[in-house]
Amino acid sequence: MQSASSLLKSKFPSVALNKRWIIYCPFDFKSFVGYNEIEAYLTALGARVIGCTKEQRKIQSLRIGDGPVCVLEAGVHAREWASPMAALYVVDKLVNKPIPGLTWIIVPLLNPDGYEYSRKSMSTRFWKKNMNNTKSRWCQGVDINRNFRIGWGDLAGCSKNPCMDTFCGLGPWSEVESISMKSLLVEERDVRVYISVHSCLQAIMYPPAHSTEKAIDLEELETVAKEMSNSIKSRCGREYQVGQSSVIDKIASGTSIDWARQELGIKYCFNLALPGPDVGYLLPEDEIEKVGKELHEAVNAVSLIAINFSNSDKPEYVDITKDT
Ligand SMILES: [Zn+2]
Repeated sequence: MQSASSLLKSKFPSVALNKRWIIYCPFDFKSFVGYNEIEAYLTALGARVIGCTKEQRKIQSLRIGDGPVCVLEAGVHAREWASPMAALYVVDKLVNKPIPGLTWIIVPLLNPDGYEYSRKSMSTRFWKKNMNNTKSRWCQGVDINRNFRIGWGDLAGCSKNPCMDTFCGLGPWSEVESISMKSLLVEERDVRVYISVHSCLQAIMYPPAHSTEKAIDLEELETVAKEMSNSIKSRCGREYQVGQSSVIDKIASGTSIDWARQELGIKYCFNLALPGPDVGYLLPEDEIEKVGKELHEAVNAVSLIAINFSNSDKPEYVDITKDT
C-alpha cells in the first residue's frame, strides 16, 4: 500500500512535507475530496492520530497555534459532506495565519468510515452513522453523536434499534470515534470553546440538546452564538439562526456538546449546522468555499471571546466509568 507521504508527494509535488512554514493546500474547495486526500494532507501538516476506526482509517487532529484551546470537530455524520470540507477550509486558513494567543485543535473528519461509505454510490449517499457492527444481523452503524455519556440511551433523543439512523450503540463510549474525541478533550487543560460542525440547518445552537430545559447561563451562550452569527452575516451575507439545540433541532441524547459542557465544564459548546435547507445534504460543489468562509468567520468571532475568557472555574474531570 502506498504511504500517505508518497501519495501526497505524487499528487501534490509542491508540498514540503512536515515543514509547516511552507504551506500549500492541495484542495481548491471546488469539489468534495475523499478520505485518502484528507488523510495525506493532514499527515503532511503533522496531524496526530487520535483513533483508528473499524475499517482501519485514521481519526486525525491538527493543533494550530499556541495558547488556550478551542476545539472544532467535523464530519461526525457521514452524509453531511459540507462539514469536513468547511473544516478543511478553516485548517487551510489557520495554518497560514494562526490566531495569536490561541490554539485551535481541529478534527476535520471524525467518521471516516461512514464518510467513505456515503461516497460509494447514490444508494449509500445518505448514510449517517459509522460502520461498526451491532447486535443486528441486518443493520450496522452507530450514530456517534448519540454515543457520548450524557443522557445516553434516553429514547426521547435517540433509538436503541440498530436499524435506525439515531442508534446510540450498545453502551456509552462503545464507539472508537466517541472515545477518541473524549480522550482528546480530557487531555486538554484549558478548553474554552467546543464546536461540532454539522449541516444543513443554517443554525448555531447551544446546549442542552437532550432536554428543553434552559441553561443557567443561557444569555451568555446566546450572546456568543449571536456574535458568530452576526459576524457571518456582516462578512458573508447569510443569516444563521441562533438558539437552543433541542428547540431549533430535535431533542438529541448522548451528544458531544452536552457531554463536553456538563462533564468537562466547557462553557461554550455549540452545534454549528452549515447551510443547505434548500438542497439538504447535497450541497452543490460551488458552495463549498462559501460555507468554508462562513465557518472561518464563526471561528474568528468566537476566538476573540475565547482569548478573553477564563475557564478556571471548571471542575476537574473524573472518569467514573474507568475501572479501578
Ligand atoms: Zn449532523
